[in-house]
Amino acid sequence: MGVKIYTNVMLDLETMGNGPDAAIVAIGAIAFDLEAGELGPGYYNRVDLESAVQDGGVIDASTVTWWLQQGDEARQEIARAGGLPIAVALASFAEWMGQTTIEAEVWGNGASFDNVILRSAYQRGGQPAPWAWWNDRCYRTVKAQRRHVPFERIGTHHNALSDATSQALHLIKMLRPSAFISGEPR
Ligand SMILES: [Mg+2]
Repeated sequence: MGVKIYTNVMLDLETMGNGPDAAIVAIGAIAFDLEAGELGPGYYNRVDLESAVQDGGVIDASTVTWWLQQGDEARQEIARAGGLPIAVALASFAEWMGQTTIEAEVWGNGASFDNVILRSAYQRGGQPAPWAWWNDRCYRTVKAQRRHVPFERIGTHHNALSDATSQALHLIKMLRPSAFISGEPR
């Protein structure tokens, strides 16, 4: 039996900034089949903030202040030790993309956020980004055009994998309502 290969990925970063060079503290993603309304494998790794900053990642005071106001579970997750050096995290995400997807459309929450920040990190680190720029897709744009479709949260708010999963389900619900079952992946 072959392993299923996906052509859509929802990406969610947790960062310490909101510009294109924001320092990344977690990378979450989930592969999905938009036509079938199915979720596939997920990816999650935390990134060592110091390594992200050494690699040119930028910390913004406004984002740090915002983090201080978020829930305990999400804050503790990004504050605890043991994140991967950014170069290792980027290589590991690229490996996951290579194993899980082909010519994937990569969805981020905002035309200037997740995809741009992650691609910038690959550029600064001298590693090839594991998806093509013409496959950048914006979940936030779809959401703005389908305001009547309710969003259902799975897991912990601001955990990158939980956020990516919730957003992928919402996107399926918006674009393929007939394929959507509810809540958990089929
Ligand atoms: Mg998030």
